[in-house]
Amino acid sequence: MLKGMIFDIKRYALHDGPGIRQTVFFKGCPLRCWWCHNPESQSTKTEIITREIKLDGDSCYEDVPVGRLMTVDEVMAEVLKETVFYDESGGGVTFSGGEPLLQAEFLKALAAECRRNNIHTVLDTCGYANPETVDSVADLIDLFLFDIKLIDEERHREYAGVSNRIILANLRRLAANGKKIIVRFPIIPGITDTDENIAGLIGLLHSMSSIINEVDLLPYHSIANHKYLQFEMENKMKDAQPPSDERMNILKEHFEQNGFSVKIGG
Ligand code: SF4
Repeated sequence: MLKGMIFDIKRYALHDGPGIRQTVFFKGCPLRCWWCHNPESQSTKTEIITREIKLDGDSCYEDVPVGRLMTVDEVMAEVLKETVFYDESGGGVTFSGGEPLLQAEFLKALAAECRRNNIHTVLDTCGYANPETVDSVADLIDLFLFDIKLIDEERHREYAGVSNRIILANLRRLAANGKKIIVRFPIIPGITDTDENIAGLIGLLHSMSSIINEVDLLPYHSIANHKYLQFEMENKMKDAQPPSDERMNILKEHFEQNGFSVKIGG
């Protein structure tokens, strides 16, 4: 039976697409972004973390699995509990991760079930997948939240672990096919937030501006620092600071002046 590796299902999500949504987090990602705020999403395997719980002032510790194999029916049982919220708010389901395209068959089966139940679907993707895989999923997705991080290929390799060629080609391909896309751009001081990278991104988006005219600017935050400790992973950003509100507003204005509709956050 077809199963997918899922590490979380978040209810009442407000920043993963329009309306009130349920976000299904797929485990496993081909990228290794320095600033990843879901490091538990990167491995395709179930991992065990030890969690502290307080009982009458005493500390106890329990091992908790992160990630479990679920069937389409099990995920849909969660999704279908909240159709009333989707209907009233113009919401639906968002597939996020990790990278859902890494489990394309499971993603397709879930998206098809959502379509059968008239539930709006969003795919939050890093875009790193075979073009055939992207094409096979595209018609089941109502809106793509497509992450673009770095335009320079070598810098993309350095900070995200892979080349960005296939990512940019997939973005162009989806735009050429008229898919609805919002580009998500993480603002990482000194890494993605450089004059050269921003000029490169705006140039790229201008070449597709008849299709892509919305950009979400996602400020770096350090709330995932404790997860790197929990998962015993190297945290290359442990001393990094988030961008200031002032910097975020300057960037918002800059993208708006270039003709884009911009939101700070998702
Ligand atoms: S693409 Fe997203 S989930 Fe994957 S490593 Fe980068 S930030 Fe993390």
